[in-house]
Amino acid sequence: MPTYPPPPVTFVRGAGSRLYDAEGRSWLDFVSGVAVTSLGHAHPAVAEALAAQARTLLHTSNLYGTTVGVEVAATLDRLIGGGGQVFFGNSGAEANECAIKLARKWAGAATTGRHVVVSADRSFHGRTLATLHATGQPAKHAAFQPLPAGFRHVPYGDLAALSAAVAAPDVAAVLLEPVQGEGGVWPVPDGYLAGVRRICDEVGVLMMLDEVQTGLGRTGRWFGFQHVPGLVPDVVTMAKALGNGVPIGACWARAEVASAFQVGDHATTLGGQPLAAAAARAVLAVMEKEDVPARAERAGRRLRAGLEALDGVVEVRGAGLLLGAELGGWLGRTAHEVAAAALSGGLLVNPVAPTTLRLLPSLLVTDDEIDEGLSILAGVLATAAA
Ligand code: PLP
Repeated sequence: MPTYPPPPVTFVRGAGSRLYDAEGRSWLDFVSGVAVTSLGHAHPAVAEALAAQARTLLHTSNLYGTTVGVEVAATLDRLIGGGGQVFFGNSGAEANECAIKLARKWAGAATTGRHVVVSADRSFHGRTLATLHATGQPAKHAAFQPLPAGFRHVPYGDLAALSAAVAAPDVAAVLLEPVQGEGGVWPVPDGYLAGVRRICDEVGVLMMLDEVQTGLGRTGRWFGFQHVPGLVPDVVTMAKALGNGVPIGACWARAEVASAFQVGDHATTLGGQPLAAAAARAVLAVMEKEDVPARAERAGRRLRAGLEALDGVVEVRGAGLLLGAELGGWLGRTAHEVAAAALSGGLLVNPVAPTTLRLLPSLLVTDDEIDEGLSILAGVLATAAA
């Protein structure tokens, strides 16, 4: 269906940070399938794990036990800080649907009326009807009204507005991204997440974090909230990088919260099935071995410094390897035009907002690849300026 624009290029192969078309032309990939291929393309450990699992056991349904997903859940719980339980789905939107349903069940929505999820303006949480309504972008809502009830939005980073919103008696939870990715790469203001935790505790609503884009090392920590020492959220959702391209999503919750779900409350046929779980198990093993949060932080510093030095870039926002480069108005070029010129020059970058380029390289990107990408972008911006 015509939901995507016609593709400007068609890829047939990938390896590490590079993609190739059928003629063998190569591109340096600083989009990573929108923060998905954090270990690069065709990572041998992930490929081998998939092949081995495909020869062993693909799927049984959740009517029966399998072992791989259980291991992945234990690793995710350890990386988040422990004390929680995991539900597996197949995407970020599904992970958030799980969180929204869990919040309603936990708050006893059916009898107490507490069902509202408060999220932020400019946020992105998915394209299912409920996660679309959680998404704080009214332009995306317009054609699909009426959307499911139970969502309210507040300005991102404004603790007073959040405090006022959660004081309403029908609120069950707050859902926030630690860095807004799709909204244009807006990091959380200092002190905000700690303030959100305090407010949620005072009122007795859940603090739910959408780490679909920020999770698994991308911002320089395993999870974006871990930039705040000691912070423990109630619910954390993730997807994207967990499978390095194999569809899998997960919703983690503190055990007391997770226990609100009972048998039959939530389900999905393919969630946590052995093939996707085998990919995730391999991904997490490589991520731990390579210490991807430390690599993302270090590589992010290099990329950020390089971007800040470019003529035509007026601001760089974000954390680790989730960076947004704001283009100077004097260039007279939109981010779409600059991204198209970069594509012609052999570099993939994402025009996430009219004047913002988003850069999401593999977390295993090398210094040479960062420098190569910066030099392509420098050429594109110099041509635009001329
Ligand atoms: N949440 C966030 C923060 C995202 O960035 C995205 C996708 O970009 C989603 C949720 C939705 O994930 P998916 O496209 O896998 O449904």
